[in-house]
Amino acid sequence: SASLFGAIDMAPRDPILGITEAFNADTNPAKINLGVGVYYDDNGKVPLLQCVRKAEAKLMEQPAPRTYLPIEGLAAYDKAVQELVFGADSAVIQEKRAITVQALGGTGALKLGADFLKRFAPGSEVYISDPSWENHRALFEGAGFTVNNYAYYDAATHGVNFEGMLAALKAMPQGSIVVLHACCHNPTGADLSQDQWSQVIDAVVAGGLVPFLDMAYQGFGAGIAEDGAVVRRFAEKNIPLLVSNSFSKSFSLYGERAGALSIVATSAEEAARVLSQLKRVIRTNYSNPPTHTAKVVAMVLSTPELRQLWEEELAGMRVRIKEMRNLMVEKLKEKAPGHDFDFVREQVGMFSYSGLTKEQVGKLRDESIYAVDTGRICVAALNSTNLDRVVDAVAKVL
Ligand code: PLP
Repeated sequence: SASLFGAIDMAPRDPILGITEAFNADTNPAKINLGVGVYYDDNGKVPLLQCVRKAEAKLMEQPAPRTYLPIEGLAAYDKAVQELVFGADSAVIQEKRAITVQALGGTGALKLGADFLKRFAPGSEVYISDPSWENHRALFEGAGFTVNNYAYYDAATHGVNFEGMLAALKAMPQGSIVVLHACCHNPTGADLSQDQWSQVIDAVVAGGLVPFLDMAYQGFGAGIAEDGAVVRRFAEKNIPLLVSNSFSKSFSLYGERAGALSIVATSAEEAARVLSQLKRVIRTNYSNPPTHTAKVVAMVLSTPELRQLWEEELAGMRVRIKEMRNLMVEKLKEKAPGHDFDFVREQVGMFSYSGLTKEQVGKLRDESIYAVDTGRICVAALNSTNLDRVVDAVAKVL
């Protein structure tokens, strides 16, 4: 008799992880992986932040038993994260309209939000930017939603097709769920201006849409408060709002799965009901979250000297990426005159849609330089050692 698994097809390979596999198999010692979604320091290493080391050292001084956390996570973590996301003095916190639960990274937060929405807005459809983080579509489809795109990137200007985006928002049926990148758009690096955000917020409010802000790179754009500003602007509108945030990048804690989901309701009483239902979603998925990551992040966020150290270290990452953008543009001016890469300076966050075609990316791979077929490169993987080789190779394939 046939096995239960006999008819199962092989799933398609994850496009990004596929690049890493090819990179790992490459024996050229000068190989460079620009396909990743990780911040590397100038030595090409994933940093372990000093603020994290210090918090962990303190925790080791008082080893604690590993009991279960509450379903919604460590209270000190949820509180500190909520204040980071909305601002301690914000009305939604004062009025107890915001609830925040610890989640397994930004992905876990998105999944909790998606499962929650599927229960309480089962007829709504989801809209994600074209293009978006490659997991958005699969994640919301996996939760049972139909997922559509809204216009976002304009390859001709290397910026946002804002008219197209606004028209798409205005055409969405009431109650539609619209996933917005709060800052540092992945994969394009193209963000909205504050004025454009105002128009987006007006369209979301007027259309009765449900905004789901995904903030995976807070602090990598203009700064912690600046990048979070859009969340606060939405929160002022007194509409239902979901916010996922991740510390994978901003704390360099990728494998610890540090994230959170916040939901803003229109009253404290409504928020309490929302939290009770969200806890059911968590309970039936993984019961409760892990302890270590929550203690580390909570301690850093709420201990003034560690908080300051984190902000400095995060600024260091942000500044290094900007330096790499500037250097790459300058060097390409020299090596590839006639090609305009100034837009790379305007892009924000870890990534750049470089404008390289699939064919050009293929030729780079012949030089053991790995990028995504869409032309996305991780600027945070450039460093003072590999930049010249990347620039020379790009100039050659143009
Ligand atoms: N959302 C966006 C836009 C991302 O780019 C990422 C990570 O690459 C995530 C969410 C997921 O973050 P995490 O690794 O914390 O699950």
